[in-house]
Amino acid sequence: MYAIDDQLIDRFHICDDYLQPLLAAVHRSPGRRPRCLCSATETGGVDMYVARIGGRYVLKRMPGTGPHHAPACPSFTPPVELTGLAPLIGTAIREQPGTGLTRLTLGFPLTRHPARASTATTGQCDAAAENECDNAKLSLRGLLHLLWDEAEFVRWVPAMAGRRRWPAIRRYVLLAADAKATKSRTLAELLWLPEPFTVAEKIDIAARRATMFAPYAASGRHKRLLLGLGEVKDIGAARFGRHKLIVKHAPDCPFILNPETLAILHRNFATELGLRQALPDTKLIALFTFGITDAGVAVADRVALMNVTADWIPFESVFEHTLVTGLVARSRRFRKAMRYNQPATHALAALILTDTDPPTACYLISAATNGAPAPNDPNLPLAQWIWNTSIQAMPQIPAPITAVSAAGPRRVSTTNPAAEEAYDPTFAKEAQSWTKHTTAQMNSPKADCAKTSDTSSR
Ligand SMILES: [Zn+2]
Repeated sequence: MYAIDDQLIDRFHICDDYLQPLLAAVHRSPGRRPRCLCSATETGGVDMYVARIGGRYVLKRMPGTGPHHAPACPSFTPPVELTGLAPLIGTAIREQPGTGLTRLTLGFPLTRHPARASTATTGQCDAAAENECDNAKLSLRGLLHLLWDEAEFVRWVPAMAGRRRWPAIRRYVLLAADAKATKSRTLAELLWLPEPFTVAEKIDIAARRATMFAPYAASGRHKRLLLGLGEVKDIGAARFGRHKLIVKHAPDCPFILNPETLAILHRNFATELGLRQALPDTKLIALFTFGITDAGVAVADRVALMNVTADWIPFESVFEHTLVTGLVARSRRFRKAMRYNQPATHALAALILTDTDPPTACYLISAATNGAPAPNDPNLPLAQWIWNTSIQAMPQIPAPITAVSAAGPRRVSTTNPAAEEAYDPTFAKEAQSWTKHTTAQMNSPKADCAKTSDTSSR
């Protein structure tokens, strides 16, 4: 339930058309704060704000307020310190609630100088490792994690099982890119994701793609680059000694990899490539910059990779895959924590269980991790669960205790998860939402009422 002034609005009606004029009016009056009434501990509700995304007005949580929401609330996020996002807030990622715009400082170039032969000679943060850089700038991998985080594919509830498909992934990633800008360009104008492929629309899809790419083929001293995001179908040999990246849904659009780009990819993302080879029922997501040659050939410049489960939930190791898929199989609820720029040796929470009371931060550490996780802030209601993968089998996962309905605490059935979903209207509604999104062809993004995330309130 939300409150705008004295008016109470059901969470699932907040995106209805009849409320758009009200949200527009609030958007024009930044002093008016809608409130989310999910948390019993926040007697006055948690402040929100209205942003304009994809041409519609939507509610978003205020920066830094994610932990104040009830764990079951879509606006809940764990404390930002548990994730790799914390050092980037206010530096590489600067959110402006007054305008709804998020400014990003990128640690990789969006232009390619003709004299620069390859990625190997560029960038302040990418020479050593494509996926890690100083916290004043967002690495390519960090941007991929930000988009996934913002698109809410880090959040899992059982009702989502079997309902995530590429059309929905594409739609929400494009929405996540909306209202974000680099120093000179908006992310939405840069980002390309392949349209869901159908034979009937094959020619039209290719034509729309060519229209988007065409302005970037112009000759010039500095070649402007685009950003591409897709599921990797293959990285293999092309003719004449080159290699190519093929993404699903765009088999007719290979992205040529020159030898230097390929070498850096193999060096910096050997773990991700190895995991994809070892775990057949997983996916590999690529975010890459690419240019268009004067002849219209797409050439990748830099590539970042991320492993996700069959349900599109990110993971970093076989152990984490075991944990995530085990939780999904047990119908648990959780929120995956993303690493952003932070190295794999840094002990960050892997995920936060949101169906325990209090929520539980789950850590996976090993002999390669630098130290133990920092103790939780005593002022935050949060438990810790630590699995040292170097010396022990997976410890018992804390049992679910509390309800996830925003209406209040409720004991969860551990014997019949299906019945639990039927009981909880929150998840029934969420399931309908996912079904709707995954059955439609979504060629252009539209704002969705369920998107209430910001970039700075993890
Ligand atoms: Zn809330």
